[in-house]
Amino acid sequence: MSVIQKAYLTNSLTHGEIADILSSDEYNKRLFYYADLTRKEHNGDGVHLKGLLEFSNICSKNCCYCGLRRQNKNLKRYMLKPKEIIGLARKAVSYGYKTIVLQSGENNIYSIDEFCCVTRSIREMGAHVTLSIGEKSENEYIAYKNAGANRYLLRIETTDEKLYKKLHPSMSHENRFECLKILKKLGYETGSGSLVGLPGQSISSIAEDILFFQKSGFDMIGIGPFISNENTPLRAAKNGSFYTALKVMAIIRLLMPKINIPASTAMETLDKNGRVIALQSGANVVMPVITEGEYRALYRLYPGKICLNDTPSHCMSCISGKIRSIGRTISQTNGDSNNFIYKTLGGAA
Ligand code: SAH
Ligand code: SF4
Repeated sequence: MSVIQKAYLTNSLTHGEIADILSSDEYNKRLFYYADLTRKEHNGDGVHLKGLLEFSNICSKNCCYCGLRRQNKNLKRYMLKPKEIIGLARKAVSYGYKTIVLQSGENNIYSIDEFCCVTRSIREMGAHVTLSIGEKSENEYIAYKNAGANRYLLRIETTDEKLYKKLHPSMSHENRFECLKILKKLGYETGSGSLVGLPGQSISSIAEDILFFQKSGFDMIGIGPFISNENTPLRAAKNGSFYTALKVMAIIRLLMPKINIPASTAMETLDKNGRVIALQSGANVVMPVITEGEYRALYRLYPGKICLNDTPSHCMSCISGKIRSIGRTISQTNGDSNNFIYKTLGGAA
C-alpha cells in the first residue's frame, strides 16, 4: 500500500512521511487524486462561495511579507464606513452569498459597538458572518460572538517560532496561539492556515504546520503561497511554489477530511487556473472578493491580485461558471464545515 493510500484510509501521516511527500514530485498524481476523492466522500460536490469584503487596509502591524504593513508608505489607506460595509454586504447577499467574510488590516479604528452593529445587520440579512480582523482581546471576541459572528479566520502563518519572530516584528507567537484557543473555546467555527514558501521556511517546518493543524482540530484551513511584494522588506525574496502550496493543501485534506478548505486567491495569482486546480485537489470553498471600485486594488497584500477591475456580480457569475464546468455545484447550505457540524452534534471530529 502506498503512503498516500495509507493516508486516505487512516487520515494520518508521520512527520517523516509528510516531509517525504513534500520533497518529491513522485507522489503528486496520487496525492491530488486521493485528496479530491476524500473531499467528495466527506463533503460532496458543493462548493461554498463566501464573499470577501476587504473593508479597510489600515494596519498597525508590520508583518514583513504583507503590503498592508504599517511601514509601507506607498499605499493609499482607506476605511469603509459601517454603512458602506453593510451596503456592500447587502448587495452580495442579493447575489446569493450565504456568508460574508469581513477582512481588514489589524486596527482599532472601529469601536466594538460599531463593529457589533455591522455584524448584527449582516446576520439580520440571513447571512453568516466570518471575521478576519486579527488578534483581539477575549472581551472583543466575546462581543462579536454575542452580536452573531459565526466564524473567525486567523492564520498562524508558520508554527516555526524563530521564523515567526523574524517575520513579525514586535508580535507574539504565543499570543497568536492563545487567540486561536480563545476563539475555539468561545464556539467560533475557527479557521487557521499558513503561508508556504516563506524565505527561511524548511520542509520540516511545513510538515510541523500540517500536524499542528490536525492536532488543533480547526474547522477550516487556508493555505497560501507566499508572494513577494516590492513594498516590503521581502521584496527580493522568491515567490513560494504553487505546487508546494497545492501539495500542502492536499495533504491537509487527507488528514482532515471534513474541514473547509478554500481554493486561495493567492494560488490563482501564481497560476491562472489555480482555483480550479485547487478545487480538484481537495478544496471545497472559494472566497470571491465583493469589495468594489478602487478599494479592490488598494487592498494589496501582494502584487498580481486577480479580478482587480471586475465587479462583484461579474466575479460571482465567472466563478460559478468555472465551478459548474468541472462538474461541481454551488452549495446552497450556510457554509458550515462538516467538521463543525459533526462536533456540534457531539461527534469526536
Ligand atoms: N490582518 C488580518 C487579516 C488580513 S491578512 C490578519 O493578518 O490575520 C490575511 C492573510 O493574507 C494573512 O493571514 C497572510 O497569510 C496573507 N498574506 C499577507 N501578505 C501575503 C503575501 N505577500 N503573500 C501571500 N499571502 C499574504
Ligand atoms: Fe496587517 Fe494582516 Fe498584513 Fe500582518 S498580514 S501586516 S496583520 S494585514
